[in-house]
Formats: sequence, structure tokens, C-alpha cells
Amino acid sequence: AASGSGSIMWFRKGLRIHDNPALEYASKGSDFVYPVFVIDPHYMEPDPKAFSPGSKLAGLNRIRFLLESLVDLDTSLKKLGSRLLISKGEPGQVLIQCLKEWGVKKLCFEHDTDPYYQALDIKVKEYTSAAGIEVFSPVSHTLFNPADIIQRNGGKPPLTYQSFLKLAGQPSWLSSPLLTSISSLPPVGDVGSCEISEVPTIKDLGYGDIEQEWTPFRGGESEALKRLKESVSDKNWIANFEKPKGNPSLFVKPATTVLSPYLKFGCLSSRYFYQCLQDVYKNVQKHTSPPVSLAGQLLWRDFFYTVAFGTPNFDRMKGNKLCKQIPWNDDDELLAAWREARTGYPWIDAIMVQLRTWGWMHHLARHSVACFLTRGDLFLHWERGRDVFERLLIDSDWAINNGNWLWLSCSSFFYQYNRIYSPISFGKKYDPNGNYIRHFLPVLKDMPKEYIYEPWTAPPGIQRKAKCIIGRDYPKPVVYHDSASKECKRKLAEAYALNQKLNGQLSQEDLDSLR
Ligand code: FAD
Repeated sequence: AASGSGSIMWFRKGLRIHDNPALEYASKGSDFVYPVFVIDPHYMEPDPKAFSPGSKLAGLNRIRFLLESLVDLDTSLKKLGSRLLISKGEPGQVLIQCLKEWGVKKLCFEHDTDPYYQALDIKVKEYTSAAGIEVFSPVSHTLFNPADIIQRNGGKPPLTYQSFLKLAGQPSWLSSPLLTSISSLPPVGDVGSCEISEVPTIKDLGYGDIEQEWTPFRGGESEALKRLKESVSDKNWIANFEKPKGNPSLFVKPATTVLSPYLKFGCLSSRYFYQCLQDVYKNVQKHTSPPVSLAGQLLWRDFFYTVAFGTPNFDRMKGNKLCKQIPWNDDDELLAAWREARTGYPWIDAIMVQLRTWGWMHHLARHSVACFLTRGDLFLHWERGRDVFERLLIDSDWAINNGNWLWLSCSSFFYQYNRIYSPISFGKKYDPNGNYIRHFLPVLKDMPKEYIYEPWTAPPGIQRKAKCIIGRDYPKPVVYHDSASKECKRKLAEAYALNQKLNGQLSQEDLDSLR
């Protein structure tokens, strides 16, 4: 099966044809290209012990989204005269086996800054350099190369958005045509003894019939480009986009683009998205700017990628220089109540149901539940909430998720711990009738609007009429917001004072890197 001028295109994220420099390079001057995706059973296979369907690491919504994205990629590759080769096993081992079996001289894959891929890539590169195989691994998942920004800043990541913007400047590729027009690909070579299959279904992976509401968002590049086109065709909407002004309770037509899951898997190139936004901005008289504009949101994404890449232990409190050390409580029952939408606060519980059933919620909805779990009410560790989000979100992203949990828990980036989201009045402001709650918590669908955000205050007769007895059909609140939030603020003040003292003991170098 050996072919001297063959190459492997290793898909991980970047599940797209457009703006895919690795794929383009793999096909240049090659007689054969092997487009490979390795399914890691650890990531995909059912975990019977998990509290909702899915594997240990990923909810079933995200697994389905990934499989749909792979089917779409396979279809597009077939149109170009190629196809997607699915292999199964520990990705590093499988890939090295393929490299050996196919005797290729070139390996191409998108550069990835997540710790998981950093470790994996070291292993693979050890093999390729010993075997004399050329590796091409371009940065195309983000607008900028995080390593460049860190280098420009003297080896440290910028810790504020504004300093990030200054260092970043305009992306160098902005005026180049990013929709790489790949019109055909070299054929796939002989696969030899490597075990190759079609994209599996969730049944193939061992999931039985599961009855629940599923995410309305379908995976894949085609869907991503369609969604992007719809968004950018509304020039007014793009020009006036202003976060955080959107309405988090809209779910039939969400207030933001819902492009995050497509960016996560690279079904959509963030660079192409950014370019499309610049085209809109050029053709309108006035438009919003970072940090609130839509382009500004993509820059937030790059900001978190850069800080995460340049900060050891970014995903932990301990050993993370950016993270305030806070003595969070440990309480499995409260954690389970939050995770399983049983806090007794309908706004919070509805959001947690949307997380479990859709894997996507509006940014401010995420704010509400993250604040509630940590510094707002329950005083539980942000790492616990992070874990739940990481598993269930379809857009689950290592840098962005950790960065936002650090933010929301007032552990880093944002420190105004006196500003707490009310689990009652915040949602009511947007959705006085409680339509969002009625949809995701049907048990409350007949509760009069006067009580829908605080059903425990409804008189017994009203509860009976609404067929929802609080304490039986829907839980009583697990904590009282007024007293719980006061207690949280007191503990945060105490912890901040102690952190200041600790900082006094840090070396000058430590302090510099915190600035
Ligand atoms: P839009 O408003 O349309 O924005 C477009 C894109 O900009 C998004 O798709 C996303 O890539 C990027 N973006 C928007 N907001 C942010 C932000 N605050 N930080 C970084 N990038 C941003 N987003 C994820 O993609 N993955 C996560 O795992 C994730 N975890 C989060 C956890 C918490 C606790 C919070 C508060 C937010 C989290 N976010 C995460 C950020 C944000 O909520 C989502 O990116 C956004 O809601 C996705 O919807 P959208 O695509 O419609 O966003």
C-alpha cells in the first residue's frame, strides 16, 4: 500500500472544507490523500453511570452533533472525489499505525492549543520526526496564533481584553480569500490492513432508544454555512448587535447566532465568520464595536484561547496564578439539585433543563446558573459547574468554558462580587409571562404568571388549580436567595482580603504576571 507521494489529512476539529489550509496542503503534490478521523471510544462510548445519556466526557447531544458533522464532511469529501476514513481507538496509536501502514511522507492537521491535543501532538511528532515524515500543522481554529500574541507581550498572555486587542491588531489574513476553492481532491489510497469504517450511528456506538427532547441544532459544515448566511444577510442586525443586550429567554429564535457549536468543532472557520462580518461593516453607515459587537465576540473567543494557552493550570483553582483562592463549599446534594434542575428556582431549573436537552443556552442564561452555583447562592466550586457544562454543552470548549467560569465565579477577570444575578427578578425582566419556564419546565405550565418565578409563594388553592403542588410536583427552593446571597458576599469579601495578604507574600515576578 506504500505510496511515496501520499499524505494523511488528520481531522480532529476543523471539520470543514472551507478555509482549511491543512487539507489544501495535504492535497498539493500528492497522488493520494487519506482523510482520517479517529473515534476515541473513551470520548464516545456510553457511560451507564452518567446522570444523563452520553459518555463519561460528552453528553449524547454533542456526540450526535459530532457524528452529523462527520457525515456532512464525508458527503462533501465524496463530492470532491475523496471520502472520510473512520478509524477507532486511542487516536495517537491509531494514527501512527496508519502512518506505518500507508507509508505516507506527509501528515497534515490543524494546530490545536487545548492541553489534550498538545500532549497528543507531542507523541505523534516524536514518531514522525524519527520516521522522517513531514508535518504541516497550521493555525486555523482561531483568528490569531495565541503563541504569537504571547510572544509579542514578552512571553506572558495579556490579561485584559483591551490589552489583547492592542497586541492583536488586524489579522494578517483579513484581505486574503479564505474560502479555499478546493474543487477536487486526490483519490484515497489503498487502506491496506487498517480497519476503516463508515461514520457510525449512535446505535452503532451502543446507545439504545432514548426518549427525550433533543437539541434542535444539526451538526456539520453545510448547516454552519447556512446559519452564517442567514445571520449576515440581516445587515441591520449585525450592525446593531450589542452584547449583553440580548434576551436570554428567547428560544424559538435565539437572540444570538448559535454558531458556537459549529465554531467548536470547526464546521465553521472563525476567520471566515470574521471576514463576513467585516464585509457587512464596510457596507453600513454605523456599526457596534468590540467588546459588544459580533466581531467583538469572536475576539473574546481568541482572548480566552490566548490566556488559557499561556496560563499553567488554567482549568484549576490550585496552582493557577490568575485564580483567586476561595474556600468553596463541598455539598453533593446541592450540586445534584443544581445539575438535575431541582433548585426550586424555575428560572435556574429551566436553564439547566435547556442545557440537558439542547446543550445550548444564551450567554446570560449561562451567567445566571453559573453565578447561582458559585458566588451568588450555593457557594459551590466553579470547577464542579465547569465539569457539568463541559460534558453537556454542544459548544463545550476548553478555553472558553474555563475562562467564563473563572469570570462568573469572580475568581478571575471580573471581581464585582456584589453584583449578583437574582434567580427571580433577572429572568422576569425579559420574560414576565414565563414562556421560557413553561416550555422547559412543563410541570409549571399552568402556574399563573404572578407566581411563575416564585411558585412557593402561590397560595395552596392556586397550586392545586395549576396542578403543581410545591414540595411534591416541583421542589421548594434549596436555599433562600436573600440570606444565601448575603452570606456569599461576606465569604467572598473575606476570601478577597486573604488573597490580598497572600499576594503580599508572592515574589515580584509573580505579581508582574498577575497584572
Ligand atoms: P454569539 O453571541 O452569536 O457570538 C458568536 C461567537 O462568539 C460564539 O459562537 C463564540 O464562539 C464567541 N463568543 C461569544 N461569547 C463569548 C464569550 N463570552 N467568551 C468567548 N467567546 C464568546 N462558549 C463556548 O463556545 N463554549 C463554552 O464551553 C462556553 N462555556 C461558557 C460557560 C459559561 C459559564 C459562560 C457564562 C459562557 C460560556 N460560553 C461558552 C460563552 C458564550 O456563552 C457562548 O459562546 C455563546 O452563548 C454562544 O452562543 P452564540 O454562538 O449564539 O454566540
